[in-house]
Amino acid sequence: MAEGKLQKLVIVGGGTAGWITAAAFARLLGQSLTIELVESEAIGTVGVGEATIPQIIRLNTILGIDEHEFLKATSGTFKLGIEFVDWGKRGSRYLHTFGDTGMNLGNVAFHHYWRRSCMGEAQPDARGLWQWSLHQAAADQARFGKLDRVGNTAMTGLAYAYHFDASRYALFLRAYAEGRGVTRSEGIVESVARDGETGDITAITLAGGKRVAGDFFIDCTGFRALLLGQELGVGYEDWSRWLPCDRALAVPSERLSTLVPYTRATAKDAGWQWRIPLQHRTGNGHVYSSGFTTDEAAADTLMAGLDTRPLGDPRPIRFTTGRRQAFWSHNCAAIGLSSGFLEPLESTSIHLIQSHVSRLIQLFPRSPGAGAMRDEYNRRCRAEFEQIRDFLILHYNRTDRDDTEFWRYCKHMAVPDSLSHKLELFAAAGRVGRDADDLFREASWVQVMLGQGIMPADYDPMADQVSDAQLAEFLANLRTIVERGVAGLPSHEDYLKQHCPAADPATAAA
Ligand SMILES: Cc1cc2nc3c(=O)[nH]c(=O)nc-3n(C[C@H](O)[C@H](O)[C@H](O)COP(=O)(O)OP(=O)(O)OC[C@H]3O[C@@H](n4cnc5c(N)ncnc54)[C@H](O)[C@@H]3O)c2cc1C
Repeated sequence: MAEGKLQKLVIVGGGTAGWITAAAFARLLGQSLTIELVESEAIGTVGVGEATIPQIIRLNTILGIDEHEFLKATSGTFKLGIEFVDWGKRGSRYLHTFGDTGMNLGNVAFHHYWRRSCMGEAQPDARGLWQWSLHQAAADQARFGKLDRVGNTAMTGLAYAYHFDASRYALFLRAYAEGRGVTRSEGIVESVARDGETGDITAITLAGGKRVAGDFFIDCTGFRALLLGQELGVGYEDWSRWLPCDRALAVPSERLSTLVPYTRATAKDAGWQWRIPLQHRTGNGHVYSSGFTTDEAAADTLMAGLDTRPLGDPRPIRFTTGRRQAFWSHNCAAIGLSSGFLEPLESTSIHLIQSHVSRLIQLFPRSPGAGAMRDEYNRRCRAEFEQIRDFLILHYNRTDRDDTEFWRYCKHMAVPDSLSHKLELFAAAGRVGRDADDLFREASWVQVMLGQGIMPADYDPMADQVSDAQLAEFLANLRTIVERGVAGLPSHEDYLKQHCPAADPATAAA
C-alpha cells in the first residue's frame, strides 16, 4: 500500500459473485485499483443461479453490456415473472409478474378497484385480478416483445428479467473483466496472512506457493466463506426456522418445446421444484427440507416432475438459510453465497450480489480505516436481507395446505413481527406496508398475498370516487387494452430467434 491509499483489490472466487464483482470494480474503479481474481477450477462453482429479476438490466447498463449479445452468449431467455403452482392450496396457480396489474386510477392502486368489483361475491376468486394483467396474458400465450407502454394508453408495458446458463454467464463476465484489466490466478487458497496489529488480511497463499498480496479482499468463495467466515470468524445467523429448506438437487433436462417466458416454482410435499427455460436446455431443481423428507424421496420427486428428458443425474447442494452477522469486517467484504443465502424462490441471490457490489463501490474507501463506511454498509445489507426474508416467508406461511408435515409446520410457524404487520394490513383492506427501500414493489406484495389466498376484507374508500357504470367501463376498457397489447407481440421463440439466438445452441448437460 503506497501513501496509505488502497491500491490492490483481491477477489477470491470466480463464480457469478466473483466475476460480477470483478466486472463492476473494473468498470467503475479500474483506473485507481489493480484487481486480481483468484479461483480454483478444482473446487468449481455452485453451478446454479439461472433466473433473475429486472434489476439485472441496471447492472448490464452500468457495465455497458448489450442485451442481445449477452443473451446469445448465455443461451438466455426472457422472464416476465414466476408461476407459483400448488402453493396457496393444491391445484392453485398464480403468476408473480414483474409488472403492474391493470392500471392505477387517480392515486388508487388497481387492486382496490378490482376488490370493489367483486365485493358482493360470497367467495371472490383472487385469480380474477390477473384478467387485467398484460404479463399474464403474454405468459399464457408465450409471447414476448419490447413494450414500454401499451399503444397510446397509460398502461405500462412489459417489465422483464432473464434466464441464462450460469456457467456461460460466468465465462461472459470473465471475458468482460479480463478485457478491462482484471488478472486471474488459478489455484486453491491454502493460507491467509494477517497483520499482527490490525488483524487485517495482508495476503493469501495458493497451493504451489504463489502469494497474492492485497489492500482489500472480497470473499466470493461461496458457501465456504473462506475469508470472512473461516478466517475472520464472522458468525452466521440461521433463519431455517422460517425458511426450513436446506438442500437442493439440480438436474438439466432437454429444452421445452415451447419456450415460455417465465420461471415455474411448483410446491412439493417438503419443498418446491423450479423449472427454468433456456434456449438449449431446461434448468430444474428440487429445493427441500431434510427435516421432512429423505434425499432419495426428494430425487424421485424431482425426476418425476420433469417436463422433458433428463440430461444427467441430480447434483446435490446443501445450504442453511440466513446471513452473516456482518458483511464487511476488517478489510474484507463477503459477496454472494459467502454473505448469506435466502434460497432461490424469488431469484434474489444474483440481485443481492449486484446490490452489494454497487453499495460497496459507493462506500469504497480511498484509504484504510473505513469504520463509518463499513458500519453503513453492514446496516444497509442487513436491512435488505431481512426485507427479502419476509417476502419469502410469506409464500410458505400463508397457505391453506396442511396435507404434509412440512406444510403444517410452515402454516403454523411464528413469523417475524415485521411480516405479521404487513399481513394484517393487507387482510384488512388491501393496504401494503412496504418499506420505501423494499426490493419488492407494491404490485409484487399484492400479487403474492392474493396468490397465496389472502383476500382483503375491504378496499380503499378512494376507489368509491367513480360510479358503478364508470368502474364497469374502466374495467372493460382495460381488458381490451390488454388483449390488443398482447396480440401485437411476437412469440417469445420468434423474438429470440430474430434478436438473440444462442451462439452455441447445442444441448449442454451442464
Ligand atoms: C439451489 C440453488 C438455486 C439457485 N438459484 C438461483 C436463481 O435462480 N437465481 C439467483 O439469483 N440465484 C440463485 N442461486 C444463488 C446463485 O447460485 C448464487 O448466488 C451465485 O451462483 C453466486 O455464487 P457464488 O459466486 O457466491 O459462489 P460459487 O459459485 O460457489 O463460487 C465460489 C468460487 O469460490 C472459489 N473458491 C472457493 N474456495 C476456494 C479456495 N479455497 N481457493 C480458491 N478458490 C476457492 C470456487 O472455485 C468458485 O470459483 C441459487 C443457489 C442455490 C444453492
